[in-house]
Amino acid sequence: MYAALLRAPGPIENHPLEYSEVAEPVPGPGEVAISVLACGVCRSNLHMIEGDWLPGTPAALPIIPGHEVIGRVKALGPGVSNLAVGDRIGVQPIWSTCGRCEHCVGGHEQRCRRRQITGETRDGGYAEVMLAKANFACKIPDSLSDTEAAPLLCPGITAYGALKKARLRPGRNVAVFGVGGVGHLALQMAAITGARVNAVSRSPKARALAEQLGAHGSYVPSGGEGGLVLREGSQDAAIVFAPSDKTVAEALRVIRPGGRVVLGVSQSVGVMDIGDEKTIVGTVLGTRQDMADVLDLAVDGKLHAVHEDFPLSEANLVLQKLKNGQLQGRAVLVPGA
Ligand SMILES: [Zn+2]
Ligand SMILES: [Zn+2]
Repeated sequence: MYAALLRAPGPIENHPLEYSEVAEPVPGPGEVAISVLACGVCRSNLHMIEGDWLPGTPAALPIIPGHEVIGRVKALGPGVSNLAVGDRIGVQPIWSTCGRCEHCVGGHEQRCRRRQITGETRDGGYAEVMLAKANFACKIPDSLSDTEAAPLLCPGITAYGALKKARLRPGRNVAVFGVGGVGHLALQMAAITGARVNAVSRSPKARALAEQLGAHGSYVPSGGEGGLVLREGSQDAAIVFAPSDKTVAEALRVIRPGGRVVLGVSQSVGVMDIGDEKTIVGTVLGTRQDMADVLDLAVDGKLHAVHEDFPLSEANLVLQKLKNGQLQGRAVLVPGA
């Protein structure tokens, strides 16, 4: 099979992914092999490929990146009874968890310290075939196409996890910082709660997209040009998916005393004034039940992933476009295209 293989991390301009022929993986106990139909391109993929992701990531080299995967089951490993050959399934960033720790049994399996991460500790979806843990895969409803479903598997579940922590309800004001792969889904979910959604982005194109997708208003961050700036203390909550260190300070500025900032990207928080009793909470991914909820929203037509599709063989170029801010919504790789 063909795969985009990372042998050594490096700047994406040097094309560190090798599109090459590798042995097809064979499913072990509890696993399935899938023919990959589509795989979303995540900013975290770019970080790992360039060598500035989490310590110990990737777990080994070479590795095949990609963790927003739609595929069709092509072979079952021993003991798999919940899937059949031919099923169309999705694989999210959490490839598996231990199932026994306090986080797994307490309804927060995304926090499991023994979790396996697709495309980081296990080979991922930048390939024609990959392995999935059968219990962690989700069946994909027929009404969703491969490329519109793929971004739901990471940006969708990530946005949903953030929304659950933002405590929104009708009449509340929320600022969503960043209208990229995740932010554009987060603002649609925020709108469903009945909250008044304000998108914040430096990019005029992103602000226009936000308004198309249901944001009440769009703004630029303090010091930005070409748009209005949110008033200090005007928001009940802020959800941050913009990859800039200045965003946390701006999010803290716009929320009211007692408000919350939900942080969906790792950033330095800086000095925090305790006087206003504001809360900053981190969020990462979600549970398998969250994933099912996200797919339901998409089937009901309440959630639309904006995506641009590319052949898998062009992975390096697509990641370069992501780095240069030249993509709208999510880029999706399609093997054999
Ligand atoms: Zn992702
Ligand atoms: Zn666990």
